[in-house]
Amino acid sequence: MKAMVLRTPGPAESSPLVHADVGIPAIGDGGVLVKVEACGVCRTDLHIAEGDLPVMKENLIPGHEVVGRIVDIGRDVHAFKKGDRVGVPWLRWTCGKCEFCLSGRENLCREKRFTGYSDDGGYSEFVSANADYIFKLSESLPPELAAPYLCSGIIGYRAFKLACPSVRDGARIGIFGFGGSAHLTVQLASKLGARAVVVSRGKEHLELARDLGAYETYVSGEADLPGLRLDSAIVFAPSGRVVLQALEAIKPGGSVAVPAIHMDAIPEMDYARHLFGEKKVFSVEANTRSDAREFLAYAERFKLKSIVETFSLEDANMALSSLKGGSIRGAAAIKL
Ligand SMILES: [Zn+2]
Ligand SMILES: [Zn+2]
Repeated sequence: MKAMVLRTPGPAESSPLVHADVGIPAIGDGGVLVKVEACGVCRTDLHIAEGDLPVMKENLIPGHEVVGRIVDIGRDVHAFKKGDRVGVPWLRWTCGKCEFCLSGRENLCREKRFTGYSDDGGYSEFVSANADYIFKLSESLPPELAAPYLCSGIIGYRAFKLACPSVRDGARIGIFGFGGSAHLTVQLASKLGARAVVVSRGKEHLELARDLGAYETYVSGEADLPGLRLDSAIVFAPSGRVVLQALEAIKPGGSVAVPAIHMDAIPEMDYARHLFGEKKVFSVEANTRSDAREFLAYAERFKLKSIVETFSLEDANMALSSLKGGSIRGAAAIKL
């Protein structure tokens, strides 16, 4: 099968992914083989390709927002059948036995495995997956529009849920940075009754944010941060400096969620300005399967609209460098 393989991590501009012919992955009794229709391009893929994250597998095929159809099925799999359209997300496997798995926090399992990181992912014609960790998807949505739901959407939802555990109508939720995850989270937050206040560097990104239901938008650097009076905030921009901006912009008692797998250094914090007043800041690590189910149900109910720029499999390097350069409007996806 054709795949884009990461031989040696390096800058996206140097095309670290190589177009190659590799064997179709084998599946076990609990596995399925999925013929890939589309695979979202997530910022985590960029961190993996550029070597910001440690290598977990040599000659890796990245990609963890996979939409496709089941073409082969292990003998222990009963919940799916051949031909089903499914989504294969980032969380590939958890141990099921540790303190985290046993307390509804499988996202924190230290043994967990990841699609497109510890194991091969969806920048390819076929991907294998564990049937317990995939989700049936509706037939109504084109595959490239469903792809961003599978990580960008789910992780944004988990961040929102943790930052705003009880959304009251009109709660002001700050969204710092506006890419693939934020463009879905703005819609969800608005549908759930919050007022999404978006802060981003890119003026064209703010225009899209307004189209998708943002209540207010600000160019970063121009906003009076304490004046934003946010109840809580989510920092999607992978920048430590922005975490401090968000802390400055929330009201006493508010929270800042950081759904990033990698972040540059957070500058020194000023206790009075950034943290006093019972402000909280926390990271968001992956997601549980419940988060995924809840988000996918919301996505269908609210008809969340993905804005997607598509690339061919061979152009996966270009997708990564466009993502890095900030030129993607909404999300990026590889369409097979
Ligand atoms: Zn575990
Ligand atoms: Zn992702």
